[in-house]
Amino acid sequence: MSSVNCDLIVIGSGFGGSVCALRAAEAGLRVIVLERGPRITPRVYEDIADGHAPIFHAEGNPGILELHRLKGLLALTANGVGGGSNVYTAVTVRPPREAFEDGWPSGLNLETLAPCYNRVEAMIAPTPIPQAVARTTTLESIGRKMGEDVTRLPLSMTWPDDPAVLRQQPVANGVYHELATWLQGGRAARKKTLDQTYLPHAQSHGAEIRPHSEVHAIIPEADAYRVSYRRWHRDAYQENSIVAPYVVIAAGALNTTRLLLQCRDVSRTLPNLSKRLGRQFYTNGDFGGLLIGPEVDLTPDAGPPVTAWLDLWKRERLYLMETGLVPYDLGGLAGLLNPATWCGTMRSSKAKRRTWSFGIMGYNDNPGQLVLGRRGALVHRHNPDVGAAFQARSMAVLRELAETAKAKLMAPPAVFARRLPITVHPLGGAGIAESPESGVTNPYGEVFGYPGLFVADGGLLPRPTGAPPSMTIAALAERNIEHFVKQR
Ligand SMILES: Cc1cc2nc3c(=O)[nH]c(=O)nc-3n(C[C@H](O)[C@H](O)[C@H](O)COP(=O)(O)OP(=O)(O)OC[C@H]3O[C@@H](n4cnc5c(N)ncnc54)[C@H](O)[C@@H]3O)c2cc1C
Repeated sequence: MSSVNCDLIVIGSGFGGSVCALRAAEAGLRVIVLERGPRITPRVYEDIADGHAPIFHAEGNPGILELHRLKGLLALTANGVGGGSNVYTAVTVRPPREAFEDGWPSGLNLETLAPCYNRVEAMIAPTPIPQAVARTTTLESIGRKMGEDVTRLPLSMTWPDDPAVLRQQPVANGVYHELATWLQGGRAARKKTLDQTYLPHAQSHGAEIRPHSEVHAIIPEADAYRVSYRRWHRDAYQENSIVAPYVVIAAGALNTTRLLLQCRDVSRTLPNLSKRLGRQFYTNGDFGGLLIGPEVDLTPDAGPPVTAWLDLWKRERLYLMETGLVPYDLGGLAGLLNPATWCGTMRSSKAKRRTWSFGIMGYNDNPGQLVLGRRGALVHRHNPDVGAAFQARSMAVLRELAETAKAKLMAPPAVFARRLPITVHPLGGAGIAESPESGVTNPYGEVFGYPGLFVADGGLLPRPTGAPPSMTIAALAERNIEHFVKQR
């Protein structure tokens, strides 16, 4: 065997990677986490607010967000220690039971995963907003009018000692300042990232986290794997590699699938990966729209990006989540959109100033396929017509919402959204399955044909969750790493 550097290498430090790093380190394994992005300190947010830090990750310019501009897909994910927990809206929920009805290995479902969800919940301790703000209560009254349930969502947040400050009216700052505030969890709350929950515990059990370390190859060597990566150091990349008998890939659905496709088809270091690699890729039904000038009570607040959603799961298999007020005056756009304003019958100027954003997510069971295109870029192949029914339902509920709130709706045209789906919840591509004919890993996340090599991120999900997926990704990682530690 080559001389090994540690027992387990974890690639990526998002939800799947952080869970595996902690549980393996707790069990006494020597763990090294290779994370492409930087450590996200308060200084990073200050630099974003001042416009001095890059926002989007690029070659030689590490930013906190990665914008994936694929042929056939636009996706937004994170780049930093703690992965998506740095940029997400912190909604930490279990999916509905029905999300497991199809496509999962037998015996894997909401009930059997319950102890693992409990472990994630104990670690992250999500709680709903302690003091409702105007958007929460307004959504509740809209829900009553529509005859639908509204849920105050469990959020991974540290709340202010005095919850009343959540209701303080903010003053709008520049765009960068707003973005930095939003990413941190709002003006009066702070997001609890994985760098405050799982990762410090992993470090206290001896795990080593190496930021700025981007993996580009996995090479089997005797009874181990050599993991090659480049480290961003003093404005230059340095080539490195380390060796371990066990490797967990947790770079997020898109980057994990890309890395594995490159290892199978380009460098051919893992030529026997399943033919299913890249298939069963999902956007989790992501869609959204803006309500411009709603005639409802919407006093601006200092609360978190998200507080509540309209639960339309039973009716439409989707959720309609309020994602905050846009702190800029988009009333002019309403004027362009609404012929009534051309005749001078616009609503009050106060109403004009309010723009309320909404996100939709749901069980859009319309799989795409990720393949490598020219020069190694990922391409998303999908049939836009298959998703038409889900898209139509999304548009219909947005219209219903806008009508109830007496607002003008601004949403991407359905044809455009079907051709170029946008997602912040990429899932699948390296799916868990019972055989290599139906997926990439076995029911415990171990890659078929490559003992000791595991996938532990959103790429593992064989179907969309409908609900926001971070808790399921973490729960599945809890289950699989527990099995690994016991079997080893
Ligand atoms: C704006 C936004 C809001 C969201 N809101 C929510 C929400 O409220 N609730 C929810 O459940 N989900 C939310 N999500 C989705 C959630 O963030 C993801 O589902 C989740 O983070 C995925 O976890 P993961 O373990 O698959 O990967 P990630 O958390 O994406 O972590 C992958 C990590 O791997 C690193 N990496 C990538 N490539 C490499 C490489 N080659 N070498 C080394 N490291 C690499 C990345 O830098 C990243 O840190 C949101 C996402 C966005 C963008």
